Amino acid sequence: MNEEYILLSWISNYGYCPRRFYLSAVEGQAPGSNIFMTEGTISHQRVDTPKIERRGSKITVTRLYVNSEKYLIEGICDNVEFNIDDNGANIPFLGEKCFLIPVEYKHGKMRNEKEYDMQLMGQALCLEEMFGTHIEKGYIYYTDAHHRHGVVFSEELRSNTIESVNEMRKIINDQVLLEPKYMKRCPKCAYYEICSPRKKMVSKYMKELWSKI
Ligand code: SF4
Repeated sequence: MNEEYILLSWISNYGYCPRRFYLSAVEGQAPGSNIFMTEGTISHQRVDTPKIERRGSKITVTRLYVNSEKYLIEGICDNVEFNIDDNGANIPFLGEKCFLIPVEYKHGKMRNEKEYDMQLMGQALCLEEMFGTHIEKGYIYYTDAHHRHGVVFSEELRSNTIESVNEMRKIINDQVLLEPKYMKRCPKCAYYEICSPRKKMVSKYMKELWSKI
């Protein structure tokens, strides 16, 4: 088996659109900045510096590197809450027993995006393996709304995420070319300029038409 690690951010890209994942992971493309990305960068600043804070029985670790050797996933968690509890997992670097809750920060209004749930699930799979525990839920914190949305790590979400990770690895290994397919969400996509979904679809259509003449 190829030892290609899948980044947590790629999981989110793949859930948003497989072509977006392809552009970043296979072609190594990086988008320039657009208004949506600039807003995201600004609102993400509060979780951009590694730190450990303790309030009562809750310890919050910001920017924690995590990985899973089982699923070959790695990346950074924005925030992980370690809630001290005698029935929790042993956390050597804190010297405490805790229940864990990953919290991912996203800019904008509250919404329900399956790619965010999958990215958070990827974080939980890493944390579960690293600390030998089971995590039942996490949160997506929406910076504009100042509100967090709970995500239950159901069996369905677990298997969908693992399946997507395996598909992503296959795309990388086999260098599968994923063509664009125009969708309603394309204009808001950070890769819109690089991807050019409308232009490429028109050009593909013209080529097919030409081949029939
Ligand atoms: S512009 Fe559209 S097709 Fe292209 S990567 Fe983004 S969402 Fe996918």
